[in-house]
Amino acid sequence: MMKFWVHRYELKPLRAIGAVADAKPRSGALLKVAWANGNVGYSDIFPWPEYGDASIEKQIAMLAKGKLTSLVEQSIWLAKKDAAIRSEKRNAFAGITKVKNHYLISDYTKFTDDEFKNARVEGFTTFKVKVGRDLKAEANFVTEILRKHAVLIRLDFGAKTNIDQFKEFVSYLNPNNLAKIEFAEDPCPWDLVNWIDASKLLPIAIDFEADRVDFNKFQVKPPFRVVVIKPTRMDLEKTLMLVNKFALKMVVTSSLDHPVGVAHALLQASELKKFYPNTLLDCGCLTTQAYEPDEFSARVKLNGPFLKEISGTGIGFDDLWEEIEWAPVK
Ligand code: MG
Repeated sequence: MMKFWVHRYELKPLRAIGAVADAKPRSGALLKVAWANGNVGYSDIFPWPEYGDASIEKQIAMLAKGKLTSLVEQSIWLAKKDAAIRSEKRNAFAGITKVKNHYLISDYTKFTDDEFKNARVEGFTTFKVKVGRDLKAEANFVTEILRKHAVLIRLDFGAKTNIDQFKEFVSYLNPNNLAKIEFAEDPCPWDLVNWIDASKLLPIAIDFEADRVDFNKFQVKPPFRVVVIKPTRMDLEKTLMLVNKFALKMVVTSSLDHPVGVAHALLQASELKKFYPNTLLDCGCLTTQAYEPDEFSARVKLNGPFLKEISGTGIGFDDLWEEIEWAPVK
């Protein structure tokens, strides 16, 4: 028998988030789970209604009725991991395999040369740019970066563009720079023919569009080479089967969620890195800076593209669990 509590919160973005979301506050809830054996674990529930998730209130209401959305199911699974480590009174991040992360440019219009230089000095070598709002200007921005710096670029279209717009975007890029584009993520809504087309121009990664794909149907290689894994959203084992079957690469990212979700993503990423050192590319878990800082984000200590530490037992934040208010789910 499990018992649940939630702590509702709002995250205030410092900038717009790609073509998908503006800078309005985003709602989510921390989840506390207690098991009959006395174990207690914590995780995050952070819906993206833009991608079809039920609102946080709906997620909680369903949990109260004993119905688990896939998001909450995943959240309980992560809380269980935290609980296990917490019960051993050890820190989840002590001595784990190092994972390098990309630098996220969620709003290129606010991105300065100084910010770029600082990121380079800190050791970032891969930059992910959210695109799909102003194709020409975004392509110029990318071209300019690649003209000046020896870095790799990841483009995230978030499936907000169609195949023609994707092709148009690529046509604006300097052909000499295409090899520096590591991949283009969700270039258009999932459609086998369109994605095969897109894959002729750039290597493709699949993120949210994976929800729409019937992977059992693939006999030959799919048109994407990279799978974006969001441990707070998807079943890891199913994804790993796919990655192994088709020799794909993977990237673990946060869900641009609460620092507690970020902590879980970082932990999963480093566990995967240990077993798949060459399959796991630079990840995208360092997203706490996308929002106004708070007590939780202050605990996620970074060292350039790497996590330095999150102190405490389990995934950390020990004293904060006592400080925040919890509402029982019933
Ligand atoms: Mg994406």
